[in-house]
Amino acid sequence: MTQATASVSRLLDAIRFAAEKHRDDRRKGAIAAPYINHPIAVAEQLAASGFDGDTELLMAAVLHDVVEDTDATGEGLRARFGERVARMVMDVTDDKTLPRRERKTLVVRSIAGKSREARLIKLSDLIANVHDLIHHPPHWTDTQKRDYLDWGEAVVEALRGTHSLLEQRFAKLVRQARARLDGH
Ligand code: ZN
Repeated sequence: MTQATASVSRLLDAIRFAAEKHRDDRRKGAIAAPYINHPIAVAEQLAASGFDGDTELLMAAVLHDVVEDTDATGEGLRARFGERVARMVMDVTDDKTLPRRERKTLVVRSIAGKSREARLIKLSDLIANVHDLIHHPPHWTDTQKRDYLDWGEAVVEALRGTHSLLEQRFAKLVRQARARLDGH
């Protein structure tokens, strides 16, 4: 097997694993899209910018919510996908034993100290979420939406300098989301 073939097959295995783990999950918007669409969108975005030939970054992007939201574990990821992919996923996995508000604050406080890969995944995750907030809005109040945008901006501010194009894309989407909320 060539290296390129091996990379593609590992990436497909990550997609299969994530799809199975998220099989009962839906996104929050009105169309209730299959959850797997979200991690695929996060990986897709990184494949377009920030990828640099690093298939393991795309694998971790595809897997970024499996430990937080399903019964998958860091150990399981390590055994199947290797140490580096598992570490990237664990780096963007929130500690769900903490109350929500604390978890959110911790992301803002800790993101700058994380690996570049973790910061890229977080940035792409935020872009995908704000995109969905505009195009497939969840049943949130305007206040909840504004809170999410404020929090996202604080995270991106904290990781500033990670990838300027992705940061600009995020800022543009936030402006669009705010304009909608303000009724423009
Ligand atoms: Zn996510």
